[in-house]
Amino acid sequence: MSIGTFRRYAVLMTIALAVDFGGTKVETALVDHTGSLIPGTRFRQTTGPQKTETELAQSVTTSIEQTLATLPAGAELLGAGIGTAGPINEADGLVSPLNVQAWRAYPLRDLVAAQLPGVPVTLRMDGLCITLADHWVGAARGYNNVMGMVVSTGIGGGLILHGNTVSGPTGNAGHIGHVEVAGFDDPCACGGSGCVEAIASGPNSVKWARNQGWDGNTGEELSASHRSGDPVAVRAVERAGRAIGHAIASATALVDLELVAIGGGFSHVAPELFDHIRATIAERTEFTFARSPRRRRGLSGHWRAASLANSSSMNFGLLKAIAGPIQAAVTTMIMTIETVHPPEMSCRIPTSSGTAAATA
Ligand SMILES: [Zn+2]
Repeated sequence: MSIGTFRRYAVLMTIALAVDFGGTKVETALVDHTGSLIPGTRFRQTTGPQKTETELAQSVTTSIEQTLATLPAGAELLGAGIGTAGPINEADGLVSPLNVQAWRAYPLRDLVAAQLPGVPVTLRMDGLCITLADHWVGAARGYNNVMGMVVSTGIGGGLILHGNTVSGPTGNAGHIGHVEVAGFDDPCACGGSGCVEAIASGPNSVKWARNQGWDGNTGEELSASHRSGDPVAVRAVERAGRAIGHAIASATALVDLELVAIGGGFSHVAPELFDHIRATIAERTEFTFARSPRRRRGLSGHWRAASLANSSSMNFGLLKAIAGPIQAAVTTMIMTIETVHPPEMSCRIPTSSGTAAATA
């Protein structure tokens, strides 16, 4: 066997199915051992609050069928990973996505497993998946104390501390979107108020702007209004940025982060969003460590989701499984939808901390 043939063989043997379930859509794709999406394998179906329990399941199974139909001849599917909006019950593979009311304690892992007899299926919070993706092949490479954030329909997140994922006993650690921000009382879908998601998600920013007299309907329209200098849109972006900055400052004070990777569609609403995030964090003038973590553009929104596949329960040591050679028993695949941000898109802040001032 030539080396070239061996490489093709090796790639074929390490294909995984990635499933990304969110409040707007479910996407599926095949991913190879390098974390790259295999062209032509990506499909999507809508989800959303209007769908019934059965319709949501149909969206998932249809998208998976479409992707599986593209599995290369002779290739073996090593596993499937599901990254889903939370909250979840990790042990039982149940999901209760906050923005998808028809599913409460829904057995999403079993739904997917029923389509894939004999294939191991793993389910994790999407925020943790994207943080792993950034740690493996994205903005957080080389850092072992990382928070990933997805600013989109909701605000999700995940934590890697001392090189280990932090998922908690139920799999729900990293819900940064439900950290409360002082000075705000926006009601939140979780039942609380003043959560950063209630203030700064795309739909909630749009809602706030509309209440101030702006007449658009989408995050894209808010972005366009911001570019044209609409005063309400400018204030909406500042408000969202400040709320996110407060949440990051609080998280950093708690767990001493090196880097925060921020992605998701609404994180692209305006470049100034990051200016407001930086400025808010910098207000903690005496906490150099809390000002030092770098904010970088994360993968999500460009690389939509990382999904995890392995044959057994996965908790500590997951990162080692990623960093080490791919094995038949334990592998981690990342679903890459587009391309990683080029380095110039990375978002860094100047800091008084020498280590954190290193070039990203
Ligand atoms: Zn909340």
